[in-house]
Amino acid sequence: MPLTGAALWSVEMAGCLRSAIFLVLHGELLRIPILKGRNRTIQNHGAILSEGLLNQRSKGNSPDQAPKKVLVIGGGIAGLTAAWELARLDLDVKLIEKSSFLGGHAIQFCCKAADECQKCGACLVEKRLLEVIEEPRIKVYLKSEIEKMNRNSRFSYTLSQRSLYIDSQRCTNCGLCFEKCPADGAVIRGYSKNNVPLYAIDETHCPHFKDGSCRLCEDLCPEKAINLDPEPDRVSGEADAIVVASGFQTFDPVNRPRYGYGINKNLITALDLERMLREKGEVLRPSDDKVPEKIAFIQCVGSRDHKLQHGFCSQVCCGYAMRMAEAIHYRHPGAEVTIFYMDIQNCGKNFSKFYERCKDHIRFVRFMPGDIFQGEQDQLILCYGDEKDGHSVREPFDLVVLSVGIMPGPSNASLADMLKLDLDEHGFFAFADPLDSTSTSQQGVFLAGTAQGPKDIADTMAQAGQAAQRVAHYLGVMPCPK
Ligand SMILES: Cc1cc2nc3c(=O)[nH]c(=O)nc-3n(C[C@H](O)[C@H](O)[C@H](O)COP(=O)(O)OP(=O)(O)OC[C@H]3O[C@@H](n4cnc5c(N)ncnc54)[C@H](O)[C@@H]3O)c2cc1C
Ligand code: SF4
Ligand code: SF4
Repeated sequence: MPLTGAALWSVEMAGCLRSAIFLVLHGELLRIPILKGRNRTIQNHGAILSEGLLNQRSKGNSPDQAPKKVLVIGGGIAGLTAAWELARLDLDVKLIEKSSFLGGHAIQFCCKAADECQKCGACLVEKRLLEVIEEPRIKVYLKSEIEKMNRNSRFSYTLSQRSLYIDSQRCTNCGLCFEKCPADGAVIRGYSKNNVPLYAIDETHCPHFKDGSCRLCEDLCPEKAINLDPEPDRVSGEADAIVVASGFQTFDPVNRPRYGYGINKNLITALDLERMLREKGEVLRPSDDKVPEKIAFIQCVGSRDHKLQHGFCSQVCCGYAMRMAEAIHYRHPGAEVTIFYMDIQNCGKNFSKFYERCKDHIRFVRFMPGDIFQGEQDQLILCYGDEKDGHSVREPFDLVVLSVGIMPGPSNASLADMLKLDLDEHGFFAFADPLDSTSTSQQGVFLAGTAQGPKDIADTMAQAGQAAQRVAHYLGVMPCPK
């Protein structure tokens, strides 16, 4: 049977070369999984479906049956990974994301490479995002949330979908709407150039949706890609299994009023810093756009805080703060970085070596500053106790970064209610089987990523791959291990 050059090209462009070939037969494009002849095994970052497991899948999957359907809730790295792994098993996947863009928190992160890669995982998210949008078995619903869910033999659901107001087929990403919009935050831009479309309209900030006073972007768009009229839509569907990958929210430092977040521009969160490094490639003081000479990180903001009923450790902040400090040192060797901490969470195989290396050029102070005061020239004064003799120190910094922790996602309670799932004492989704963190009390519903509890990108991807495997066992498209 002839395999045309164009068909092969389309395979490559679709990023599917590793999992499928396309054959043009009687004018129809057929997708045929490549399952033999290579020796792909369990590997890092979530691609846990080995060649052997994919082969087992082919034995359990009858070609006469319509593909089983899976609903993945949340388009962060957990949802992207679960969706992609499920599609590799030839399952039909609907991926529901409530915001305008895929990628969740991690697509906002910068590459933290210094003289060598620091394995922060940011580039993995970009790669997985691209794989998902090019995978024909995954249908993405942006700005969508589940409104109703019923369970009989399958899950029946209704989604409510708000419009992006920008037609992805027409938009060329010229950015004119973003540049010329007179209202702050009304046209928003995705963090990755692979977001399709790259721009969307946020009706909560656009005056058109309040009083109809503006339609400038509609008129300006050279492609006529903008239409401000569509009403929210409803989409109904059925699924055989569900993966909950609805993620987390960062701790809001306004809830630690002694730091005064929101008052001094030079007091920012680690997420603000990630976005700044991603967008500008350097660290600049928000008050004057100058490179800061003295930068402080304050660890455990919102984590391990019993007064706030957040007794748990967020597990990622020590690692991300040190990697970020390394990236700053590399980009601005003259800048002095201090990390204030109570304990360093030793996570990962090479973490202690990395910590030792960081100590060469990062100052670590084991004391959590109590108050932050306004200094001269927009500096911030941190008050802390000296480690040796305990005397109190007041030290000025040009920029202070709050290492905010991972908190349960804002829709956990409503999702738990709709899917009849349990939440743990902190508000994350509880797993039912102590040996399987993807399990829930409901058959056919599985957990992936930080919806279940704090974890970094690599662990999130690994767990999402495991959730996909559990779905495959549950649907009988892959035999359960004995
Ligand atoms: C400041 C900071 C820096 C970090 N830096 C690093 C780092 O350098 N390296 C690293 O490995 N880890 C880092 N992490 C951890 C990393 O952010 C997480 O591991 C990762 O983002 C988890 O992905 P997730 O998909 O579980 O959650 P999320 O990224 O939160 O994605 C969840 C998605 O689900 C969507 N959603 C939520 N509710 C619904 C709903 N009801 N319906 C539909 N969609 C919904 C959300 O809009 C979101 O897009 C950092 C964390 C923080 C806070
Ligand atoms: S002006 Fe039109 S084509 Fe340009 S980015 Fe905006 S919607 Fe897309
Ligand atoms: S209608 Fe006006 S305010 Fe709203 S997004 Fe378009 S240009 Fe911005």
